[in-house]
Amino acid sequence: MSLKEKLVEVCHKVYEKGFVAAYDGNLSVRTDNNSVLITRSCKCKGEITVNDLIEIDLNGNVLNGEGKISTENKIHLLAYSKREDVNAVVHCHPVYATAFALIGEGLIEHYLPEVVLTLGRIPLCKFAIPSTDEVPESMSPYIDYSWAMLLENHGAVTFGKDIFDAYYKMEKLEHAAKIIFLAKKIGKLEKLTDDVVNKLFEMAEKTYGLKQDKRNIF
Ligand SMILES: [Zn+2]
Repeated sequence: MSLKEKLVEVCHKVYEKGFVAAYDGNLSVRTDNNSVLITRSCKCKGEITVNDLIEIDLNGNVLNGEGKISTENKIHLLAYSKREDVNAVVHCHPVYATAFALIGEGLIEHYLPEVVLTLGRIPLCKFAIPSTDEVPESMSPYIDYSWAMLLENHGAVTFGKDIFDAYYKMEKLEHAAKIIFLAKKIGKLEKLTDDVVNKLFEMAEKTYGLKQDKRNIF
C-alpha cells in the first residue's frame, strides 16, 4: 500500500468513527523526501481519494496536487519542523475529547495507566482562532514531547511515527475521554499517584521509545 493510500484509508477511518463531521479535520504524512502530503480543504474525510492529497514543502509551498491545502496546515508544519520522530499528524474534532477541551479542564489528570504509556501528558493548548498562526503558537510550549494535544474550544491533534500510529493515538485519546466522562457521571475518580505516573513515563521511554514530557507545566 502506498503512503497516499494509507493516508486515504485513515481519512476514511476518522470519518467512520465520528471523529470529524462534514469537512472537518485534516491529516498528513511526511514523505521520504521530507515533503508533506496533506488533505485538501472542503472535502469530507469519508469521501477523500488520493487525488485530494496535496504535496507541500515544510514552508507550506505547494509542490504537487490540485485544490487548496487545508487551512490548518500550520499545525502539521510545526510538528514536522520541530520533531524528527513525527511522520504523521491527525487533527480531528472527536466528540468526547473535544467536550473536555470546551470546559477548560482538558485531560490533564492521569487516571488510566495505558493512556499514560501511549499518550503521556495531554496538554490543553490555549484557545486560538483556527487557521491563524495563533494555533501553532498555542501548541509550541508542548510540541517537543507531546503525542496528543487538546486545542481549547476546538478539537484534538495527535502525532505518530507513521499514519496508523497517529490514528490509533487519536482513537485512544477519544476512548479515554469517553471513559473518563462516564466515570465522572457515576462516581469519584481516583487519580494515579505521581510515583506511578513517573514509573509509567520511564516504561514508555524504554518499551515504546516514546519520549515523555516530564515537566509539570500544565
Ligand atoms: Zn479543527
